[in-house]
Amino acid sequence: MQAGLLSTYQHPVRNRNGLAWALSALLMAFYLLLYFGKENYDAKDALTRYAHDPLNLLIVKLGWPTGDNGSLWVFNKWYLYAALYTLGMAIGGYFMLKKHGNSRYHRLRTYSLVSVQAILGFMLPIALDFAHRPAWYFSYFFPLKYDLFFPYNLDHMQATVAAWFIFGSFVGIPTLVYFKGKRAYCSWICGCGGLAETFGDPWRHLSSKSDRSWRIEQFSVYTVMFLAFAMLGMVLADGLSAPDSPIHGWANHYKEWYSLAIGAVFSGVLGTGLYPLMGTRVWCRFGCPMAAMLGLIQKFGRFRITAKKDMCISCGNCSTYCEMGIDVRAYAMAGKDIKRSSCVGCGMCAHVCPRGVLKLETSKDVGPHGEIQVWTLDL
Ligand code: SF4
Ligand code: SF4
Ligand code: SF4
Repeated sequence: MQAGLLSTYQHPVRNRNGLAWALSALLMAFYLLLYFGKENYDAKDALTRYAHDPLNLLIVKLGWPTGDNGSLWVFNKWYLYAALYTLGMAIGGYFMLKKHGNSRYHRLRTYSLVSVQAILGFMLPIALDFAHRPAWYFSYFFPLKYDLFFPYNLDHMQATVAAWFIFGSFVGIPTLVYFKGKRAYCSWICGCGGLAETFGDPWRHLSSKSDRSWRIEQFSVYTVMFLAFAMLGMVLADGLSAPDSPIHGWANHYKEWYSLAIGAVFSGVLGTGLYPLMGTRVWCRFGCPMAAMLGLIQKFGRFRITAKKDMCISCGNCSTYCEMGIDVRAYAMAGKDIKRSSCVGCGMCAHVCPRGVLKLETSKDVGPHGEIQVWTLDL
């Protein structure tokens, strides 16, 4: 455990006590129900059919009948989930800003995260569904949205929508990250990161800063990235192969396995369920293939955190508050700039530093020895 901000650990639910374990179990149970509960809804007999399925029962009670047969044609569990998710982000964002809202950077990125989720992650997909159009989530890109190029999506994808996702996945977001760092997506746009930054803020200090967890992180996150791109290759090969090719069977098994193990269990059940025990970025650190891909770009890009030399008093606040498990203090003590692929640019390390040692920088201006000038401030 890092020194500094020790009161963080004395709060109930924030120090891995029994309550935190119970909350973690509750979150995991919720995600298990969500992913493995029933899909279809018919108000006529839903109340009896789902009598033993609390989440679906809740949906039926919250949903409204439309049409003569009372079918809940628009209000399914994924929209209820999106509503709860957005609400959780809005409430979490409110409390996060009560603590850190004196920073313009945190105000703007929190407004951005909650707005993107509310508009692109909640309202627009429901509006599209009402209009009998495919309900796209325009803020998610490959490889985070791993099924984007699965046939059941491609079959309904118009050319303009396909262009948006292909451009965003392979050109737009990577370019943005090259110039502005991963923060442009992970701390301003992405809904998964958004939940971590708002609802998950009370547990951000629980991420391990040990070398061991860093080694595990590097192994696991690049493995998942490899698996995601292997799946894309398989989907393409499947599409191009002859109808009787065995590739169809392999591709289907692989897609099912990935959807279950990575898409549901890793990112949802564990990624969010472990917030109260392992911090808020378990999925972002150890599993997200987009984190790995964007991290490699960030490594060669302009973003870095500069540390003023001989200013650090080793209080440890920065490391304590780093949700990505980066031991920021070690860099600051050594007077070294931080250029880590895992950094999501949340800016919390700079915000909680009592000496103003750290700055988030993206300028290409460099000093005589290649270092970023500290006056090229870019928050
Ligand atoms: S690491 Fe992945 S899931 Fe996390 S915020 Fe970034 S893109 Fe989203
Ligand atoms: S190093 Fe700083 S900006 Fe990067 S993830 Fe950690 S706290 Fe956020
Ligand atoms: S960089 Fe700032 S917050 Fe981090 S240990 Fe040094 S003085 Fe403390």
